[in-house]
Amino acid sequence: MTDSHCHIHFQGYKDDMEEVIDRTQTRGVRMITIGTQKDTSKYGIEVAEAHENIWCTVGLHPNHVHKQTIHEDAMDAFSTREETFDKDYYRELIKSSSKVVAIGEVGLDFFRLPDMDKEDVMETQLVNVHHALELANETNLPVVLHVRDAHAEMVDVLKQYIDSGRLDRRGVVHCFTGTIEEARAYHDIGFFTSFTGIMTFKDRKDPEKLTPLMEVARDVPLEWMMVETDAPYLTPEPHRGKRNEPWMVIHVAEKVAELKGVNVEEVERMTDENANKLFKLV
Ligand SMILES: [Zn+2]
Ligand SMILES: [Zn+2]
Repeated sequence: MTDSHCHIHFQGYKDDMEEVIDRTQTRGVRMITIGTQKDTSKYGIEVAEAHENIWCTVGLHPNHVHKQTIHEDAMDAFSTREETFDKDYYRELIKSSSKVVAIGEVGLDFFRLPDMDKEDVMETQLVNVHHALELANETNLPVVLHVRDAHAEMVDVLKQYIDSGRLDRRGVVHCFTGTIEEARAYHDIGFFTSFTGIMTFKDRKDPEKLTPLMEVARDVPLEWMMVETDAPYLTPEPHRGKRNEPWMVIHVAEKVAELKGVNVEEVERMTDENANKLFKLV
Protein backbone atom coordinates (compact mmCIF):
# COMPACT_ATOMS: atom_id res chain seq x y z
CA MET A 1 0.00 0.00 0.00
CA THR A 2 1.00 3.64 -0.02
CA ASP A 3 1.79 6.13 2.71
CA SER A 4 0.70 9.13 0.67
CA HIS A 5 2.30 11.68 3.01
CA CYS A 6 5.30 11.21 5.28
CA HIS A 7 8.55 13.01 6.04
CA ILE A 8 11.03 10.12 5.99
CA HIS A 9 13.88 12.51 5.26
CA PHE A 10 13.29 14.65 8.36
CA GLN A 11 15.54 15.04 11.42
CA GLY A 12 13.40 12.57 13.38
CA TYR A 13 15.05 9.78 11.37
CA LYS A 14 18.57 11.19 11.14
CA ASP A 15 20.09 8.23 13.01
CA ASP A 16 18.17 5.36 11.42
CA MET A 17 16.45 6.47 8.23
CA GLU A 18 17.67 3.48 6.19
CA GLU A 19 16.39 1.05 8.82
CA VAL A 20 12.98 2.70 8.90
CA ILE A 21 12.82 2.64 5.10
CA ASP A 22 13.73 -1.07 5.20
CA ARG A 23 11.06 -1.85 7.80
CA THR A 24 8.50 0.03 5.71
CA GLN A 25 9.41 -1.57 2.39
CA THR A 26 9.53 -5.06 3.91
CA ARG A 27 5.88 -4.54 4.75
CA GLY A 28 5.13 -3.56 1.16
CA VAL A 29 4.45 0.10 1.88
CA ARG A 30 5.43 2.74 -0.69
CA MET A 31 6.14 6.31 0.42
CA ILE A 32 5.70 9.85 -0.76
CA THR A 33 8.05 12.00 1.29
CA ILE A 34 6.94 15.60 1.54
CA GLY A 35 8.97 18.80 1.40
CA THR A 36 8.03 21.75 3.61
CA GLN A 37 10.56 24.42 2.68
CA LYS A 38 13.57 24.93 0.42
CA ASP A 39 16.08 22.66 2.14
CA THR A 40 13.69 19.81 3.01
CA SER A 41 12.34 19.87 -0.54
CA LYS A 42 15.83 19.51 -1.94
CA TYR A 43 16.86 16.74 0.45
CA GLY A 44 13.61 14.82 -0.14
CA ILE A 45 14.57 14.51 -3.79
CA GLU A 46 17.95 12.99 -2.85
CA VAL A 47 16.29 10.36 -0.67
CA ALA A 48 13.66 9.55 -3.31
CA GLU A 49 16.31 9.28 -6.02
CA ALA A 50 18.28 6.81 -3.91
CA HIS A 51 15.35 4.41 -3.31
CA GLU A 52 12.80 2.43 -5.25
CA ASN A 53 9.19 3.10 -4.32
CA ILE A 54 9.85 6.44 -2.69
CA TRP A 55 8.63 9.57 -4.45
CA CYS A 56 8.75 13.14 -3.23
CA THR A 57 7.15 16.57 -3.38
CA VAL A 58 8.52 20.10 -3.19
CA GLY A 59 6.76 22.91 -1.39
CA LEU A 60 6.49 25.46 1.38
CA HIS A 61 4.33 24.63 4.41
CA PRO A 62 2.08 27.54 5.50
CA ASN A 63 3.73 27.50 8.95
CA HIS A 64 7.02 28.32 7.23
CA VAL A 65 5.96 31.61 5.71
CA HIS A 66 6.44 33.22 9.14
CA LYS A 67 8.92 32.71 11.91
CA GLN A 68 7.24 30.84 14.77
CA THR A 69 7.67 28.02 17.25
CA ILE A 70 5.47 24.98 16.68
CA HIS A 71 4.38 22.51 19.42
CA GLU A 72 5.93 24.95 21.88
CA ASP A 73 5.51 22.78 25.01
CA ALA A 74 6.03 19.44 23.36
CA MET A 75 9.07 17.24 22.87
CA ASP A 76 8.99 17.73 19.14
CA ALA A 77 8.96 21.54 19.33
CA PHE A 78 10.65 23.28 16.42
CA SER A 79 11.08 26.77 15.08
CA THR A 80 10.28 27.82 11.57
CA ARG A 81 12.11 30.34 9.46
CA GLU A 82 10.47 32.88 7.29
CA GLU A 83 10.47 31.81 3.65
CA THR A 84 8.49 32.70 0.56
CA PHE A 85 7.43 30.33 -2.21
CA ASP A 86 10.28 30.93 -4.62
CA LYS A 87 8.88 29.76 -7.95
CA ASP A 88 12.24 29.76 -9.74
CA TYR A 89 13.84 27.64 -7.04
CA TYR A 90 11.02 25.09 -6.93
CA ARG A 91 10.77 24.98 -10.73
CA GLU A 92 14.45 23.99 -10.93
CA LEU A 93 13.95 21.27 -8.32
CA ILE A 94 11.01 19.86 -10.29
CA LYS A 95 13.07 19.81 -13.48
CA SER A 96 15.93 18.05 -11.70
CA SER A 97 14.09 14.79 -10.93
CA SER A 98 11.27 12.65 -12.28
CA LYS A 99 10.66 11.52 -8.69
CA VAL A 100 8.95 14.83 -7.88
CA VAL A 101 5.26 13.92 -8.18
CA ALA A 102 3.52 16.97 -6.69
CA ILE A 103 3.85 20.45 -5.28
CA GLY A 104 3.33 20.57 -1.53
CA GLU A 105 2.81 20.73 1.17
CA VAL A 106 1.40 24.16 0.63
CA GLY A 107 -1.80 25.67 1.92
CA LEU A 108 -3.54 27.71 4.58
CA ASP A 109 -3.23 27.21 8.33
CA PHE A 110 -5.34 29.69 10.26
CA PHE A 111 -5.11 27.53 13.40
CA ARG A 112 -1.43 27.84 14.21
CA LEU A 113 -0.97 31.55 13.72
CA PRO A 114 2.17 33.36 14.86
CA ASP A 115 1.83 36.21 17.32
CA MET A 116 1.20 38.90 14.68
CA ASP A 117 -1.67 40.69 13.02
CA LYS A 118 -3.97 37.90 11.94
CA GLU A 119 -5.10 39.55 8.71
CA ASP A 120 -1.49 40.08 7.64
CA VAL A 121 -0.58 36.48 8.34
CA MET A 122 -3.54 35.17 6.39
CA GLU A 123 -2.78 37.48 3.50
CA THR A 124 0.83 36.31 3.34
CA GLN A 125 -0.23 32.66 3.38
CA LEU A 126 -2.66 33.36 0.54
CA VAL A 127 -0.01 35.06 -1.60
CA ASN A 128 2.23 32.01 -1.18
CA VAL A 129 -0.59 29.61 -2.00
CA HIS A 130 -1.21 31.48 -5.25
CA HIS A 131 2.46 31.19 -6.21
CA ALA A 132 2.35 27.46 -5.53
CA LEU A 133 -0.85 26.91 -7.49
CA GLU A 134 0.48 28.91 -10.42
CA LEU A 135 3.58 26.73 -10.51
CA ALA A 136 1.46 23.56 -10.22
CA ASN A 137 -0.49 24.69 -13.24
CA GLU A 138 2.62 25.65 -15.16
CA THR A 139 4.40 22.34 -14.45
CA ASN A 140 1.21 20.28 -14.71
CA LEU A 141 1.63 18.70 -11.29
CA PRO A 142 -1.01 17.99 -8.63
CA VAL A 143 -0.88 19.76 -5.24
CA VAL A 144 -0.64 18.40 -1.69
CA LEU A 145 -2.56 20.80 0.51
CA HIS A 146 -2.25 21.45 4.23
CA VAL A 147 -5.43 23.18 5.39
CA ARG A 148 -6.49 23.96 8.95
CA ASP A 149 -9.38 26.20 9.94
CA ALA A 150 -9.45 27.53 6.38
CA HIS A 151 -11.46 25.08 4.28
CA ALA A 152 -13.94 27.63 2.91
CA GLU A 153 -11.11 29.98 1.93
CA MET A 154 -9.13 27.15 0.33
CA VAL A 155 -12.07 25.85 -1.71
CA ASP A 156 -12.72 29.40 -2.92
CA VAL A 157 -9.17 29.75 -4.17
CA LEU A 158 -9.18 26.32 -5.83
CA LYS A 159 -12.44 27.10 -7.60
CA GLN A 160 -10.94 30.25 -9.12
CA TYR A 161 -8.26 28.12 -10.71
CA ILE A 162 -10.47 25.25 -11.79
CA ASP A 163 -13.18 27.51 -13.22
CA SER A 164 -10.60 29.18 -15.43
CA GLY A 165 -9.27 25.88 -16.73
CA ARG A 166 -6.19 25.70 -14.56
CA LEU A 167 -5.01 23.03 -12.05
CA ASP A 168 -5.97 20.13 -14.30
CA ARG A 169 -4.17 17.63 -12.10
CA ARG A 170 -6.07 18.70 -8.95
CA GLY A 171 -4.67 17.35 -5.65
CA VAL A 172 -5.22 16.05 -2.15
CA VAL A 173 -6.03 17.70 1.17
CA HIS A 174 -3.72 15.93 3.58
CA CYS A 175 -4.40 15.26 7.26
CA PHE A 176 -8.04 16.07 6.77
CA THR A 177 -9.74 16.97 10.07
CA GLY A 178 -12.78 18.90 8.84
CA THR A 179 -16.46 18.00 8.58
CA ILE A 180 -18.12 15.75 6.01
CA GLU A 181 -19.57 18.83 4.29
CA GLU A 182 -16.08 20.30 3.99
CA ALA A 183 -14.80 16.98 2.63
CA ARG A 184 -17.56 16.90 0.02
CA ALA A 185 -16.73 20.43 -1.10
CA TYR A 186 -13.27 19.13 -2.05
CA HIS A 187 -14.56 15.95 -3.71
CA ASP A 188 -16.98 18.06 -5.77
CA ILE A 189 -14.03 19.85 -7.34
CA GLY A 190 -11.99 16.68 -7.82
CA PHE A 191 -9.77 16.80 -4.74
CA PHE A 192 -9.05 13.79 -2.53
CA THR A 193 -9.12 13.89 1.27
CA SER A 194 -6.42 11.99 3.18
CA PHE A 195 -6.58 10.67 6.74
CA THR A 196 -3.78 10.31 9.32
CA GLY A 197 -3.42 8.59 12.68
CA ILE A 198 -5.52 11.37 14.26
CA MET A 199 -8.51 9.47 12.93
CA THR A 200 -7.54 6.47 15.11
CA PHE A 201 -7.37 8.53 18.33
CA LYS A 202 -10.05 7.40 20.77
CA ASP A 203 -12.54 9.66 22.48
CA ARG A 204 -10.98 10.48 25.87
CA LYS A 205 -14.16 10.15 27.89
CA ASP A 206 -15.71 7.23 26.05
CA PRO A 207 -13.22 5.07 24.12
CA GLU A 208 -16.06 3.05 22.59
CA LYS A 209 -17.67 6.07 20.99
CA LEU A 210 -16.85 7.16 17.45
CA THR A 211 -15.11 10.53 17.35
CA PRO A 212 -16.41 13.14 14.87
CA LEU A 213 -13.38 12.45 12.64
CA MET A 214 -14.07 8.70 12.65
CA GLU A 215 -17.59 9.44 11.47
CA VAL A 216 -16.19 11.59 8.65
CA ALA A 217 -13.79 8.81 7.61
CA ARG A 218 -16.66 6.32 7.67
CA ASP A 219 -18.71 8.57 5.38
CA VAL A 220 -16.04 9.64 2.86
CA PRO A 221 -16.30 7.30 -0.17
CA LEU A 222 -13.18 5.22 -0.79
CA GLU A 223 -13.10 6.75 -4.29
CA TRP A 224 -12.06 10.04 -2.67
CA MET A 225 -9.88 8.78 0.13
CA MET A 226 -6.17 8.43 0.77
CA VAL A 227 -4.34 7.33 3.90
CA GLU A 228 -1.07 8.61 5.31
CA THR A 229 1.06 8.82 8.44
CA ASP A 230 2.52 12.36 8.32
CA ALA A 231 5.38 10.56 10.09
CA PRO A 232 7.30 11.37 12.28
CA TYR A 233 4.23 13.15 13.70
CA LEU A 234 0.70 11.90 14.56
CA THR A 235 1.47 8.26 15.46
CA PRO A 236 -1.68 6.12 15.06
CA GLU A 237 -3.14 3.76 17.64
CA PRO A 238 -1.96 1.29 18.92
CA HIS A 239 1.50 2.90 18.79
CA ARG A 240 0.50 6.34 20.06
CA GLY A 241 3.26 7.87 22.19
CA LYS A 242 6.05 6.36 20.07
CA ARG A 243 7.67 7.88 17.01
CA ASN A 244 5.55 7.39 13.91
CA GLU A 245 6.94 5.36 10.99
CA PRO A 246 5.49 5.13 7.47
CA TRP A 247 4.56 1.40 7.71
CA MET A 248 2.12 2.35 10.50
CA VAL A 249 -0.17 3.63 7.73
CA ILE A 250 -1.45 0.04 7.86
CA HIS A 251 -3.18 0.94 11.13
CA VAL A 252 -4.90 3.89 9.52
CA ALA A 253 -6.19 1.61 6.75
CA GLU A 254 -7.34 -0.94 9.34
CA LYS A 255 -9.34 1.72 11.15
CA VAL A 256 -10.99 2.85 7.92
CA ALA A 257 -11.90 -0.76 7.12
CA GLU A 258 -13.35 -1.27 10.58
CA LEU A 259 -15.43 1.92 10.37
CA LYS A 260 -16.76 1.09 6.93
CA GLY A 261 -17.22 -2.62 7.58
CA VAL A 262 -15.10 -3.65 4.59
CA ASN A 263 -11.93 -5.74 4.21
CA VAL A 264 -8.67 -3.94 4.85
CA GLU A 265 -7.49 -5.25 1.43
CA GLU A 266 -10.25 -3.23 -0.18
CA VAL A 267 -9.11 -0.06 1.61
CA GLU A 268 -5.50 -0.73 0.64
CA ARG A 269 -6.38 -1.39 -2.98
CA MET A 270 -8.58 1.69 -3.39
CA THR A 271 -6.27 4.13 -1.61
CA ASP A 272 -3.37 2.72 -3.63
CA GLU A 273 -5.25 3.22 -6.87
CA ASN A 274 -6.09 6.77 -5.85
CA ALA A 275 -2.43 7.52 -5.15
CA ASN A 276 -1.42 5.94 -8.48
CA LYS A 277 -3.97 8.01 -10.30
CA LEU A 278 -3.27 11.37 -8.67
CA PHE A 279 0.52 11.13 -8.51
CA LYS A 280 1.00 8.94 -11.62
CA LEU A 281 3.14 6.51 -9.63
CA VAL A 282 2.87 3.70 -12.18
ZN1 LIG B 1 0.63 19.23 7.05
ZN1 LIG C 1 3.26 16.82 6.59
